[in-house]
Amino acid sequence: MNHGVSGVDPEPFKRRLIELKAEVSKRIQSIDKHIRHEGMSADWSEQASERENDEVLESLGNSSEQDLAMIKFALKRIEDGTYFYCEQCGDEIPSARLELLPFTAYCVNCAEKIES
Ligand SMILES: [Zn+2]
Repeated sequence: MNHGVSGVDPEPFKRRLIELKAEVSKRIQSIDKHIRHEGMSADWSEQASERENDEVLESLGNSSEQDLAMIKFALKRIEDGTYFYCEQCGDEIPSARLELLPFTAYCVNCAEKIES
């Protein structure tokens, strides 16, 4: 049984992550479909501009893949009972931060160091 830390119930976070996971998976699927579909255009100039589109879509797809990986990792962290702890320093992550960023694995301090 996982009771979380400081009496914080991980269930609402878990539900939200599962929702997010479904949302992001759907986004990735529609991007994939779009990229495949655009590759079938016959007109050359159209193809060129579509290729630019593909790049935008692909980077969007990549960031979605990243989101999905983070969401899956967060769900695993809930299962492991480590969800409320920073991956980097082991400090407790305030639940207010997790409500804003349910798939973050770091406390504010470490996130700032990693992202900068
Ligand atoms: Zn930290």
